[in-house]
Amino acid sequence: MRMLSTRGGAAVSPSGAILRGLAPDGGLYVPGTFPAFTLEEIAELADKRYEERALTVLSRFLPDFETDELRRAIAGAYGTGFDCEAVAPLSRVGARAYALELWHGPTLAFKDMALQLLPHLLTLSGRKHGETREIFILVATSGDTGKAALEGFLDVPGTRCCVFYPEDGVSQAQRLQMVTTGGNNTHVIAVRGNFDDAQTGVKRMFSDAAFARKMDEQGRVLSSANSINFGRLVPQIVYYFSAYADLLKQGAVKPGDAVNFCVPTGNFGDILAADYAKKAGLPVGKLICASNENNVLTDFIRTGVYDIRSRAFYKTISPSMDILISSNLERLLFDLGGCDGEKTAALMEALKTRGCYAIGEDMLERLRARYAAGYVDQDGVRAEIERTWKEDGYLMDTHTAVASAVLRAYQRETGDRTLSVIVSTASPYKFGASVLEAVAGKAACEGRDDFACCEALSALTGTREPDSIRRLPSLPVRHGAVCEKDQMPEAVLEAVAGKP
Ligand SMILES: *Cc1c(COP(=O)(O)O)cnc(C)c1O
Repeated sequence: MRMLSTRGGAAVSPSGAILRGLAPDGGLYVPGTFPAFTLEEIAELADKRYEERALTVLSRFLPDFETDELRRAIAGAYGTGFDCEAVAPLSRVGARAYALELWHGPTLAFKDMALQLLPHLLTLSGRKHGETREIFILVATSGDTGKAALEGFLDVPGTRCCVFYPEDGVSQAQRLQMVTTGGNNTHVIAVRGNFDDAQTGVKRMFSDAAFARKMDEQGRVLSSANSINFGRLVPQIVYYFSAYADLLKQGAVKPGDAVNFCVPTGNFGDILAADYAKKAGLPVGKLICASNENNVLTDFIRTGVYDIRSRAFYKTISPSMDILISSNLERLLFDLGGCDGEKTAALMEALKTRGCYAIGEDMLERLRARYAAGYVDQDGVRAEIERTWKEDGYLMDTHTAVASAVLRAYQRETGDRTLSVIVSTASPYKFGASVLEAVAGKAACEGRDDFACCEALSALTGTREPDSIRRLPSLPVRHGAVCEKDQMPEAVLEAVAGKP
């Protein structure tokens, strides 16, 4: 199987795509052909454990990896560090839907599903391409991705991970999560500036030849773990197969019955993985793209026009979905346009220069055959959390609740009775203060910090507060470095000198 660039450039192997991240022409790598799973093969997954399901799916999407390599990588990713054996369990939400819980990993959010596996795929890819240097991952984070990357790369041989966060731009809990990270190959540095400063600084380091030379002299090569890497997308395909396998096992569906997935969406990676599962033969019905007030994708899926020109950016209680430019959408455009790299490149150029593009009737028709879309505002999110807790006894976080509310509206508007799965992307305790406010009112949060809110949430609902949150305030701080925004390369060199 060859990986194509969405902008038409040269094809590479899957391991080559993972090692490079972005294609040299600026495009994203996508599979040139998709594996075709039969219903029998899918039915066989029902009796398998998550790791075995992952091996079955990944070996078909990554044919240039040996089975044993993948088996070890999967064991390293999902063998420990998840708080339940199912890894990605399916829970009933009343009588109306299921929730696919992707937050049982070390940082309590769905980024772990990919970032626990990516470091292993990256080092294997490096080895296949004769890369002997240490893979040095640079990350700028506004909070969640940084910790997920640190946990994923923690003590993975042949890798090192350095995260920059804005000194005053992350929550108390997010900062503590990062600065208490253990391991001998992790670095966390606060930047005196905002998230944009940190992000700009990291981008600059990637194009800084002198810095690359210094790293090379130390036997290191820079790489990135961001969500456009195919190595982050491919682990996400697995849990859609796994959800279907669990539904088969429970007798909720028969082989071949369609299932809808409703996905809280930001960068379009999670929902695109469901689309790829469908292209590989999984019986998926509609993909329902759920947004918060930053609803550029809702408009796009309904009208075929992607327009960010006169859009305000809203900071919401589902911050991981506060995104206006969804990078993975480029992969869908390539697919809808019949794998025409020039066409995709022209659309992306229009977005860059004019802040807007429109797809033609044929592409729109294909889009709407596969996708539906909706959005909900913050009051709607709080109301949904309260309602599912009171009516269904299911406690959900502020991102999952976006999907839950959008699914409810979709079902009401269309009458579509297909069995539906809400993709649950974070533990309610990751956003404990907002969830507490939703179920108990604003007054319940008054005078309480994030940790006290989580304690109160547990007492009120009788649900279990994850140990990783409860223990956080008492863990030793291991990373205290702070740097100016124009001193980031120096800060990296200093950090590695102190922890070679
Ligand atoms: C990243 C994230 C999302 C959005 O996923 P995309 O793949 O970017 O669409 C949704 N919810 C949570 C909790 C996340 O961390």
